[in-house]
Amino acid sequence: MEAKRFSKNDSGFVCAHCGRDVAPLGYSSRNHCPHCLWSLHVDVNPGDRSCDCGGEMEPLRAEPDPKKGYIITHRCKSCGATRRCKAAADDDVKLIIKLTAMG
Ligand SMILES: [Zn+2]
Ligand SMILES: [Zn+2]
Repeated sequence: MEAKRFSKNDSGFVCAHCGRDVAPLGYSSRNHCPHCLWSLHVDVNPGDRSCDCGGEMEPLRAEPDPKKGYIITHRCKSCGATRRCKAAADDDVKLIIKLTAMG
């Protein structure tokens, strides 16, 4: 099984989890799939793509943030690392709301 890695910074990619095409975000570095919210463990710091774990990161929960909209917490299925990141403008809001109920 070969998982496609994010290419550098804000370019489009195919989601390793749901297989859908993800377009570049435009205003920031794309961190996760807007369709299923899963991510890949490829960053040490957001957007740097310098982590070689490459595991799939599951969206665990989301919390509303007064300044940033929503913050999503991901956990890596491979190494167990957790990471918090900002939801993107085109994320599936219904999924995010569902995740806020998990927190
Ligand atoms: Zn996806
Ligand atoms: Zn990992």
